[in-house]
Amino acid sequence: MTLRRPVYLDHQATTPLDPRVLEAMLPWLMGSFGNASSRQHAFGWEAGSAVAVARETVAEALGAEPREIVFTSGATESNNLALLGAARAARGRGDHVVTSAVEHRAVLDPCRQLAAEGFDVTVLDPDETGRTAVERVEAALTTRTILVSLMAASNEIGTLNPVAEIAALCASRGVLFHTDAAQAFGKVPLAVKPGVALASLSAHKLYGPKGVGALYVRARPIVRLAPLVFGGGHERGLRSGTVNVPGIVGFGAAVRIAVREREEEAARLAALRRRLDEGIRGRLDGVTLNGPPIDRLPGNLSLSFGGVGGERLLASLRDLAVSSGSACSTAEAEPSHVLLALGVPAALAKATIRFGLGRFTTGAETDFAAATVVEAVLRLRADPSLTTLE
Ligand SMILES: *Cc1c(COP(=O)(O)O)cnc(C)c1O
Repeated sequence: MTLRRPVYLDHQATTPLDPRVLEAMLPWLMGSFGNASSRQHAFGWEAGSAVAVARETVAEALGAEPREIVFTSGATESNNLALLGAARAARGRGDHVVTSAVEHRAVLDPCRQLAAEGFDVTVLDPDETGRTAVERVEAALTTRTILVSLMAASNEIGTLNPVAEIAALCASRGVLFHTDAAQAFGKVPLAVKPGVALASLSAHKLYGPKGVGALYVRARPIVRLAPLVFGGGHERGLRSGTVNVPGIVGFGAAVRIAVREREEEAARLAALRRRLDEGIRGRLDGVTLNGPPIDRLPGNLSLSFGGVGGERLLASLRDLAVSSGSACSTAEAEPSHVLLALGVPAALAKATIRFGLGRFTTGAETDFAAATVVEAVLRLRADPSLTTLE
């Protein structure tokens, strides 16, 4: 059997739409095109009830109430609304915000904006696996702390944070706890009750469409947010703008599938990941695992390859769609801020591959990936003219 190449192993970047999700979305892209806010006719009513059903589905998956779900354009917007919105609204009570060095840019950049607005931002260094223990958080809290933001699962290295413990600590201290759950939601157990004040979700990390997500905003005790977008008062005034009906319906369908299949799929992915890991580290020396060895995001494997140049390694993996340990947002490839925060040397960070396995990944694909990587690394290490150029 020939594989379609490149083999897609970048499911932490995005996932393909599940055909069942597309099926659920199609009517809302065509005949049922109403504005969910239109109250005078059936087009609006049916769109409104489709959005309400999706809201119930997302809420139930989190153990939340439907009124606690605000639909957004994705986790980036949700993170911005959570951080900027909560900090600005709580300004009278304090000015201190706590986060960690391994957060997604969509958390770190809003935190930088808060610092520019005069907030005091503490960026914690996690342990060597990327985890932030509850004691680290507790030690950082002051009487001025209003908000703590730590991701539930890392998009780069698969680390899981002790969300429930940190949430309980924050709740007991009257501090808002926000978690970026874009990777965790639907993949690992995640409950917002008790203690989580705000949680960011994204549909496209979950086999739903791009450009839609949600922010969970706790109703009791109430979490006040200063909105970022004004006009029309949609989503309880927190996110104005005509809601993305097909996207939200797709998000709801994706969540329903993820909830139903989560346990079985997590076990399947963890087994595939082990097979890929053994296929590489069992045959190569000088390869280190980033993130924890067990208890991690099921589909994620991050490996750093000693003795090879990052650019050459990636260049010889054209048959694999994977991510490197570099942020390619700029012309010069910078080593990933996450790996650097863990103490991985810059050159090794650049020689890092993130394998992101997903719902449609097969054993044949991971075996092909392992063989491709092993062959490339052995070849690069054997050729002194290649390695000395780096
Ligand atoms: C993908 C991702 C985001 C951004 O989500 P979008 O919906 O693409 O804006 C934020 N945080 C984490 C952890 C992610 O993996």
